[in-house]
Parts: sequence; structure tokens; C-alpha cells
Amino acid sequence: MKLSRLPQKTVERLSQYRNALLGCLQVEKYFIFSHELGNIVHVTPVQVRRDLMLIGYSGTLRKGYDVSELIKLISKILDPLEIQKIALIGMGNLGRAIISHFNGKRTQLTIVAAFDNDPNKTGRIINCVNCYHIDDLPVIINREKVNMAILTVPPEAAPEISKTLLTCGIKGIINFTGTPLKVTPDVFLEEYDIITSIEKTSYFTLKVG
Ligand code: NAD
Repeated sequence: MKLSRLPQKTVERLSQYRNALLGCLQVEKYFIFSHELGNIVHVTPVQVRRDLMLIGYSGTLRKGYDVSELIKLISKILDPLEIQKIALIGMGNLGRAIISHFNGKRTQLTIVAAFDNDPNKTGRIINCVNCYHIDDLPVIINREKVNMAILTVPPEAAPEISKTLLTCGIKGIINFTGTPLKVTPDVFLEEYDIITSIEKTSYFTLKVG
């Protein structure tokens, strides 16, 4: 399905809806109302209906949404047609945790190569992924047709590596390093920091507590 670009938050919620719907199938629940789906992912039924209308889906008033049908539709929107290959830069604690947590969970998205500058890690297969030397990044990215990268190097190494990634034609970066990065407008950058999440949770814990 080709839709004009959806808002980022909608895409995040579609991913959450799909996870929730897959959970429904596991307990043999085949139809779901917007308020039930909203309850699982902590959004209002109005928000659920708005999101699903955006992707052209409406359930039957009596039975609610058909769970399998909705999973199929969301998958058509979220999953790339061809397998999207991802590179991970920085095979340390976080990098290894991401690979073991993510690889195998989504058929169309896979971390195919990792890079590091530590000779004890390069030239080896770690967590089922080849770990190459960082100097080989342009060649491998080109050969494997990688277009997305996850950055888990120390903060000070991030700017230089991100420049190389852009030169290699990478179009999406998830940056875990905490160093703000500059990218060109044609590149999607997602910055993730657990500290922000902890601080946000602490703030709301104290506000509601
Ligand atoms: P780590 O030291 O275990 O791993 C870093 C890896 O990067 C090491 O394997 C190291 O050899 C490699 N490396 C260093 N310089 C490099 C370079 N120039 N080129 C290629 N590889 C290089 O650290 P970690 O605990 O895995 O953390 C990794 C990064 O993630 C850090 O920036 C840390 O601050 C950040 N972090 C972010 C979050 C978050 O929520 N965003 C959580 C934990 C850690």
C-alpha cells in the first residue's frame, strides 16, 4: 500500500497496535473494538479510530475490527517490500543487546553487518552477525546494499562515523550515543536516550504520586 507520508507518532502507534493485535491472536481473540485496542496501548478510542481511518480501515460497528485483517493492513504499510538491511556500528554492550533483541523479530528488517574498531571484535561473528573493521564500512555497506544504520559507539566517535554513513548513502540512522547529529534533509534521524525516558518517568511519577 502506497500512502502519503504518515506522521511519525502515527507510525509509532501502528507498530504498537500490531504488537497488541498479534497478542490478541495468541489468545484467540479475532475481533477487537477501538476502546479495547486503545486500552492495551494506552491511547483513546478516538485516537485509534483516527489512526485507522488514516490508513483507510474501518471495522464493523457490531463486531469491531477484524484482528487478522488489520494486522495484514498495518504490515503492508510498515513492512518494506524488500528486506531492509541494517548496519550496527559499535559492537559493545548496547550493540550486542540490540542485535540479540531485534534480529529475527521482523522478517523484512535485519541487521546484516556490525562494525567496530576493536581488533578483538572484528573479523568475527558475534551474535550471528559478521563484525567488520570500521575502515571497511563503505565497501560492506555498498556490497550488502545497506540503507539504514544503528549507532552505538562512544559519544565522541559519533559525528565522524555519521559523516561516513551519509557519504555511503545511508538514509536512516538511529543514534543511541547522546551526541546530537546533523544529517541532510533526505535522511531520517531518530535519537534515542534512555536517560530522557527515565527523567520523563521520574517527572510524571512525582507529579501523579
Ligand atoms: P561499549 O563501550 O560497550 O561499546 C562501544 C563499542 O564501540 C565498543 O565495542 C568499541 O570498541 C566501539 N568503538 C569505539 N570507538 C569506535 C570507532 N571509532 N569506530 C567503531 N567502533 C568504535 O559502550 P555501550 O555501553 O555499548 O554504549 C554504547 C553507546 O551507547 C555509548 O555512546 C553510550 O553512551 C550509549 N548508550 C545509550 C543508551 C541510550 O539509551 N541511548 C543506553 C546505553 C548506552
